[in-house]
Amino acid sequence: MAGVGESTVVSNATNLAKYMKLDQKGKVLAEYIWIDGTNGLRNKTKTLSKAPSSVDDLPEWNFDGSSTLQAPGDNSDVYIRPVAMFPDPIRLGENVLVMCETWDPDGTPNKFNYRHEAARLMEANAKHDIWFGLEQEYTLLGPDGWPYGWPKGGFPGPQGPYYCGVGTGRVYCRDIVEAHHKACMYAGIEISGTNAEVMPAQWEYQVGPCEGIDLGDHLWVSRWLLHRVAEEFGAVVTFQPKPIPGDWNGAGLHTNVSTKEMREEGGMKHIEAAMKKLDGRHKEHMKVYGEGNEARMTGAHETSSIDKFTWGIANRGSSVRIPRQCAKEGKGYFEDRRPASNGDPYQITGVMVETMFGSLPEEPKPE
Ligand code: ADP
Ligand code: MN
Ligand code: MN
Ligand code: MN
Repeated sequence: MAGVGESTVVSNATNLAKYMKLDQKGKVLAEYIWIDGTNGLRNKTKTLSKAPSSVDDLPEWNFDGSSTLQAPGDNSDVYIRPVAMFPDPIRLGENVLVMCETWDPDGTPNKFNYRHEAARLMEANAKHDIWFGLEQEYTLLGPDGWPYGWPKGGFPGPQGPYYCGVGTGRVYCRDIVEAHHKACMYAGIEISGTNAEVMPAQWEYQVGPCEGIDLGDHLWVSRWLLHRVAEEFGAVVTFQPKPIPGDWNGAGLHTNVSTKEMREEGGMKHIEAAMKKLDGRHKEHMKVYGEGNEARMTGAHETSSIDKFTWGIANRGSSVRIPRQCAKEGKGYFEDRRPASNGDPYQITGVMVETMFGSLPEEPKPE
């Protein structure tokens, strides 16, 4: 795995604090965030003359798509349209983080704008009040690309004491995890928890339940914040599904789903109907459940077979698990355990809605 070489931390926290406190003279900084052509994140800062009261106050902007693998060099302008706004936990004050969609000059969504179609699907099925809760697993690496805190070129003791662990030698980099959790809360992201994972230096946080397209917006901004926070600590975040081969757990993005009908009395029959539909679309789902997922979904380490859809109550070795409590109450939600940690939440939640409620007619092309 490629590291970044030497640590990129050249900051001096005390010096920086002096400048961060300077008066902004009524102006506001907006950090525009978008998804590039490699399923990664990019961002740039815009000075606004006054604080936006909603996302509609934020102007469209643009960037050089040839530098992000999103456009050819001879027609490189890509437009970024604000779709969600959050208080900025790093700059504080009235400064904001802005999640954006990418659009091409001809008025069509950029090839890597998967949010647009997902948002259409959510909108068309709004009456089902679809909730999503995603469990984001990730691994922290040192600047050399080896898991943070692991012996150089070597391995820690076997898995066992690390999951939800406490104490030196059991967890690594808790500072980053704490800082990220608080930063997400400040930003108004629906972060619902955090835990240390089975492999040392691997962690999880949960986002949700959020309704419809909000889940994707909240999760992408939480990922941006994780990279941003880790940058200050000189660590690298990887969302690779199997960062270390062998007897080390991979990283997933368990996707918990419910509709209004599933949450109501007798909801289990709606969950079972969804299982039947998911069974018929296993391949379509796997296609958007993350790159390199085959290295993780071996059937071992609490994963299921990559080739076959299965579901079961309280079974962590099946594609979908129905929590025991839900089965007991006869209603609730289900957990799709297939998505890899690097999956795109817009595509994952989008395909889920498409499978449950059908696809949409194609949009008319702009003139
Ligand atoms: P696990 O036992 O699989 O580790 P977690 O506690 O980590 O479960 O995550 C459970 C997730 O399920 C949370 O993100 C939570 O928001 C989500 N969730 C809970 N209830 C619902 C629901 N009714 N619909 C959708 N998601 C839900
Ligand atoms: Mn979990
Ligand atoms: Mn987990
Ligand atoms: Mn889970």
